[in-house]
Amino acid sequence: MPKLRLIKILLGVVIALFIGATTYISALVVERQNALEQVSRYNIAWLVSQATTEYARLEQRVSAFGLPGSKVSVDEVKLRFDIVFNRLALLQSGEVEEFVKIDPEYRATVEALSDTLSSAQSYLENLKASDSPELLRILLPLDSRLARLAAAANRVGGDRVAEDQHQLITLHWIFSSLAGGLVLCGIALIALLMWHNRLLQRAHHDMRILADDLQRTSENLAVANQDVKDANNELEKQNNVLIRRDRELRTQNERFDAALNNMSQALCLVDAKQNLVVCNQRYQELFGFDKHLLIPGTPIRHLIEFLSINGGDDIGLRQIWANQQALIREHRAATSFEELSDGRTFGISHQPLSEGGWVATYEDLTERRRAEARIAHLAHHDALTDLPNRTLFHQQMNDWFRRIAQDGGQFAVMCLDLDGFKVVNDTLGHPVGDILLTLASLRLKDAVRAEDLVARIGGDEFAVLLKDADPNEMSKAATRILEAIANPFEIDGQHINIGTSVGIAVAPIDGDTADKLLKNADLALYRAKAEGRGTSCFFEAKMDSQLQARRQTELDLRTALGTGEFEVYYQPLVNLASGEISGCEALLRWKHPTRGFVSPAEFIPIAEEIGLIAKIGEWVIRQACMTAASWPASINVAVNLSPIQFKSPHLVQSIVLALAASGLPAQRLELEITESVLLQNDDTTLAVLHEIRALGVKVALDDFGTGYSSLGYLRRFPFDKIKIDRIFVQEMTTDQDSMAIVRAVIDLAHSLRMTTTGEGVETAEQMEQLQSAGCTEVQGFYLFRPQPADALPKCFATPASIKTVAA
Ligand code: C2E
Ligand code: CA
Ligand code: CA
Repeated sequence: MPKLRLIKILLGVVIALFIGATTYISALVVERQNALEQVSRYNIAWLVSQATTEYARLEQRVSAFGLPGSKVSVDEVKLRFDIVFNRLALLQSGEVEEFVKIDPEYRATVEALSDTLSSAQSYLENLKASDSPELLRILLPLDSRLARLAAAANRVGGDRVAEDQHQLITLHWIFSSLAGGLVLCGIALIALLMWHNRLLQRAHHDMRILADDLQRTSENLAVANQDVKDANNELEKQNNVLIRRDRELRTQNERFDAALNNMSQALCLVDAKQNLVVCNQRYQELFGFDKHLLIPGTPIRHLIEFLSINGGDDIGLRQIWANQQALIREHRAATSFEELSDGRTFGISHQPLSEGGWVATYEDLTERRRAEARIAHLAHHDALTDLPNRTLFHQQMNDWFRRIAQDGGQFAVMCLDLDGFKVVNDTLGHPVGDILLTLASLRLKDAVRAEDLVARIGGDEFAVLLKDADPNEMSKAATRILEAIANPFEIDGQHINIGTSVGIAVAPIDGDTADKLLKNADLALYRAKAEGRGTSCFFEAKMDSQLQARRQTELDLRTALGTGEFEVYYQPLVNLASGEISGCEALLRWKHPTRGFVSPAEFIPIAEEIGLIAKIGEWVIRQACMTAASWPASINVAVNLSPIQFKSPHLVQSIVLALAASGLPAQRLELEITESVLLQNDDTTLAVLHEIRALGVKVALDDFGTGYSSLGYLRRFPFDKIKIDRIFVQEMTTDQDSMAIVRAVIDLAHSLRMTTTGEGVETAEQMEQLQSAGCTEVQGFYLFRPQPADALPKCFATPASIKTVAA
């Protein structure tokens, strides 16, 4: 505060002045007091006038002394003299002496006084009244001179007093001025103090306002601080959102980049000013652009210039550009394919954009075209053998239908499949199966004319389209095919024998559509197989009705279980050692309402095909167990299981339930399976078989000898029994080889601790031979035919013939 400082300085000055003035006044007063003292004590005028007065008194006494009768004494006159002497001494000393020296007349007067007095002194010794006139004469002449001296002294004294008075007045003024100054200083001091006070008050007031303001500001600041904090939080939130968005954007950008640079097409996006917006790596590679040319904003004209200079020999690529120029000018969208001279194919898509630019993609379709051609080929050919497939075969048939519709004539379709292929596949493995199919397809192609078409239409199914052939040629072709396939194949050093059957249908007589013709050729094949493998068969109209019949059988079979048309027959088995019935085989019978008994050999395969066998099989097991539970404990029951039943997850459960429901001990149940069950060759089948055995149920290998590598299966599962197929049993008596095989099998079974059953025993001789070969039991019409359950008790009661045999 500059004002306060000023006040302080002023105050200091005033106080200093105050002290100075007081000191000065004190000094002045002291000095004046001394001066005044001197004025009063050593007054020259007074001293001179005293001397004059005393002198006059002396003259008066002297005069009086001279008078007669005077009362004035000599002493008195002498005293007066002494006084005047004193006065003279005063005039000759001190201040008066100074005064006297001023003027020679004054000095002369004093000296005259001294001389006069000295003259008069001689009279004093013997003073007498008469001396008075003499004395007066000596004394009187000095009167006037003394009066003049007194007057001069008076004058000097008056001057001195006037001077002193003047000085006193001056002093008075100085004093008054100082006093006034002090008063003014005091007033100034008070004013300054008041001012100071006021300034302080104002400063205090200002301070208070300031403090209030500060308080308010502080509160405002606190509020503002909170606001800032809130805003900061909000900002942080927004910042996080921004960061997230930024991250998302970056990810999207990366994805966009990745997408752009990983697409197979070259892409180029250009703005309305014909400047590059974006392009991808493929674009650069395709046209061979320098990388620096492809920064966004590059005029597209630069790229064209570059191409025309550096395009080199690739006229095709330049042509692509030239064509596109027209599209750019005309703002036209177009998709085109450019076939370049070097065999490459490009797909170009040009698309103008609404704001004036355009986007174009360029794709090298060469590989794709090749792939498409390959796919088209694969779509019509079999990948393994490269033979035309069913689709192409159909197309060709349709072509030939059109041709004969126009030009007349005929053509034939042959269907064939490879007998025993499945076994080869299952036993020797799929790679061998594949080679076999390939070799067979080559042989088939060789067996027909060049103009004919061989196709693979299924796993081991082939079809041949014989174009423009007469029946004679058709038969010849069929024979060539049969022979070609019948010849052994040699794969990996193994001889493989398979065969085939051929079904032939001739268009247009046997069918006027591709489907119908193929179906009829298939029916003919079916017949050919039925007539014995390795034959060919032409379609006949009645085959169709046979197929119809089969359809009817299927339909009837579906309802047979519900309508109670099934019945289980039982064929007893006789133990050759004891001659006793050791068990019965359950054989299913279908009593068809119109057709009578239908053979299981006919309906079981159909039931398997249409998926009914599992249900039927379960029913048979339940029936068999129930029936067998009432038989003597020594008689077991055998039930046949279809391979298809092993595909049901409920097989084991249904066996357990049948046993539980009937109360039949598991040991009395026997399940017969054929090799084909094991052919499925998967672990689940074996696991199920083991589960069954674990229940205590026995497992028999049925129809042994009809399969392909029978002995191998004996090692895969520990069967309880081997049932030797009736073909062996029946050939045994005439064919030494069959006899040897039967013996070998029986011996092998013994060594594996398996029992054996000879099936289809129709003669005593067969039974005897089996017995002598060591077979455990026999089954056949010679002993018992299959019969209904209620006929069994009779059989169980002493069958004499068996006893005889056994004996
Ligand atoms: P398989 O298991 O070999 O049954 C024996 C067949 O031989 C029976 O024919 C039986 O009648 C017949 N047979 C018995 N002894 C002689 C004989 O001395 N000479 C001749 N020529 N044949 C004899 P069936 O009953 O016609 O059964 C045929 C096939 O049907 C059975 O052959 C079996 O594979 C199947 N099958 C029968 N019942 C069932 C069944 O319930 N389930 C399954 N999955 N298959 C069954
Ligand atoms: Ca059987
Ligand atoms: Ca059998």
